[in-house]
Amino acid sequence: MTPGTVYLVGAGPGDPELITVKARRVLGEADVVVYDHLVDADLLELTRPGCERIFAGKKGGQPCRPQSEIDGTLVRLALDGKTVVRLKGGDPFVFGRGGEEASALEAAGVPFEIVPGVTSALAAAAYAGIPLTHRLHSSAIILLTGHEDPSKEDATVRWEDYARLKATLCIYMGVKNLATIARRLEAGGLAPSTPAAVVQSATTDEHRRILGTLGTIAALAARAQVEAPAMVIIGEVAAFSDRLAWFESSRQLAAAR
Ligand code: SAH
Repeated sequence: MTPGTVYLVGAGPGDPELITVKARRVLGEADVVVYDHLVDADLLELTRPGCERIFAGKKGGQPCRPQSEIDGTLVRLALDGKTVVRLKGGDPFVFGRGGEEASALEAAGVPFEIVPGVTSALAAAAYAGIPLTHRLHSSAIILLTGHEDPSKEDATVRWEDYARLKATLCIYMGVKNLATIARRLEAGGLAPSTPAAVVQSATTDEHRRILGTLGTIAALAARAQVEAPAMVIIGEVAAFSDRLAWFESSRQLAAAR
């Protein structure tokens, strides 16, 4: 039997409207969709009747199932001739283990395609009114993980190294370790007065935003009981959120009507 194709598809940050036209098409063609915990349920409605749904969820960075099992499931379904959509939050190749899944498919001789998605750093910034680059304030963007795989040999990002780049730092999975991260960035020379923001559940009904500085953001986030999923954005550009946070303003207006 000819194997089916596996599409590794980015589901975007939460708002189901933020998926690509291609993602929508392949969802409509799939025999099976294997989806993650951060994927909006409305997206599953784009599949055709009878499309099998398999939850491969992960919470707080902890796989509910081992990655090898997910890889094996994708391979087995494709070898059964099924067209498979592997639907992942944000973009599949940004902290999404899409690289491991694509490698497993390649090794098994299964055809695959990657459909990029709006990664949560871009979405959180856009919806919080933070221009990630700005001619006067930032010429680089760095995507970092604040929760590294503890089984990795050299497990820690060297935060001090990122302090002197004059870049915008976008930290995924960083809320739990925010106090340590902030301390290490300061130790590396980043001024405590550097603007910083945390955006929780960006683009969804639960969207909320905390604004502060490198020196205050960890305490502010703790006080506000910020929970995952949340994006931490550090850099001069975070200050723009004060005036450009259009999403919250538009929701307040809508609520007042
Ligand atoms: N592949 C995903 C990232 C998966 S790692 C992507 O490209 O976005 C999971 C982390 O992404 C979360 O801990 C959080 O830091 C971030 N994240 C995902 N959705 C988010 C959202 N709606 N708002 C803020 N951060 C989000």
